[in-house]
Amino acid sequence: MPDLDGVEACRRIKAVPALTQIPIIVVTARSQKDFLQAAFDAGAEDYIRKPVESVELLARVKSAFRFKQESEARKSWEEEITKTINELDKTVSEMEALQQLIPICPTCRKSHPSKISEAALNEYAQSHPRMKFQSLMCSTCTT
Ligand SMILES: [Zn+2]
Repeated sequence: MPDLDGVEACRRIKAVPALTQIPIIVVTARSQKDFLQAAFDAGAEDYIRKPVESVELLARVKSAFRFKQESEARKSWEEEITKTINELDKTVSEMEALQQLIPICPTCRKSHPSKISEAALNEYAQSHPRMKFQSLMCSTCTT
């Protein structure tokens, strides 16, 4: 394959969305910087000079394959992390919504029905500064 066509082939392969992740190793008799720069700009990952040595070719292919696998693993891990963060955000929002359902008397600062001790409530409120309680006067304070 003439070198110019090789660069164009890289460009066309990398323009197809389903093929963008496929590593391209350019095989060339040339080593001019301009050609190599054009090949890398077109999306080539690596190059091998002719005549091709099978040991070198195999090592480069293995290396490109390993890099691709690692990239995919990292991408998959990042997607998983993003998914987990979104789930956590949703859970935190739900918890905050539920916390607002705990009625606290604005006068005596006690929860009612008083299932939660005042000490536990204060401790919890201090460690969760974003938490808001529902303000509701208790029967003791209204009488
Ligand atoms: Zn009260």
